[in-house]
Amino acid sequence: MSTRSHPFTEPAKKHLGQHFLHERRIIDKIVQAVDPKPGDRLVEIGPGQGAITFPLLDRHGELTVIEFDRDLIFPLTEAARAHGTLEVIHRDVLTVDFTALAHNFGGQGQIRLVGNLPYNLSSPILFHALDHAAAIRDMHFMLQKEVVDRMAAGPGSKVYGRLGVMLQAYCHVTPLFDVPPGAFRPPPKVDSAVVRLVPRAPETIGVDDPATFSAVVRDAFGQRRKTLRNALSKLCDAAAIEAAGVRPDARAEQIAVQDFVRLANSLKPS
Ligand code: SAM
Repeated sequence: MSTRSHPFTEPAKKHLGQHFLHERRIIDKIVQAVDPKPGDRLVEIGPGQGAITFPLLDRHGELTVIEFDRDLIFPLTEAARAHGTLEVIHRDVLTVDFTALAHNFGGQGQIRLVGNLPYNLSSPILFHALDHAAAIRDMHFMLQKEVVDRMAAGPGSKVYGRLGVMLQAYCHVTPLFDVPPGAFRPPPKVDSAVVRLVPRAPETIGVDDPATFSAVVRDAFGQRRKTLRNALSKLCDAAAIEAAGVRPDARAEQIAVQDFVRLANSLKPS
């Protein structure tokens, strides 16, 4: 699809992370990965000039989008008429309550999030989505490849850290495919990748107190060269770490996600 036939006149805004997808092959792969089914409640974050929006609308007939840039709202709404029913939420996505949004669709259904995210906001958007994980069935996001690598990394990897542990505790994380800078206008300076996140069923997550878990992971990786005994000294002592079955002289990057969960669960809520 070319966006040229649509009345988008504003240049891309750097501060809003605007890199518009134009490569049809990549757009098709994203739509295929999402594979919308009748009744799905699709919500796109940052529709921009509609590169993913219109093909999704053609396929699914209806879509809700959240876009912060007011200059895009009118052309997007106009251009969408030829494709299906578009609901536009003109807001900063970080202020959108996904749980309320899912509720507004009616019934018990969860929403499915899609988005070529503004890269400067990708971690805040991921953490915001985690806060509403129970209302989300899955997420398909385009992000910097380096961020996707961190999200999916396991113990022993140089890029294993807070982001990976936090996301993997609550979601299945599957990198899908890489996307080169040339697929966007203007091209970003970095490679990109598409990732699928599927929130785990609440009964299988195992985290007793999310605030304690988050504090343990934050402190453990705060100074990743330190042993857990030292890094976690504000939260617990070596005996408590050992009692949870974790080696106090290990470093955070050696500890599996389930071990962080067990350690946090063994501590009193903060
Ligand atoms: N989906 C389009 C595409 O693939 O060509 C645009 C993707 S562009 C990388 C990111 C989009 O997110 C832009 O449309 C930008 O205006 C929007 N955006 C930036 N910050 C936002 C925020 N806080 N809330 C909602 N949308 C935002």
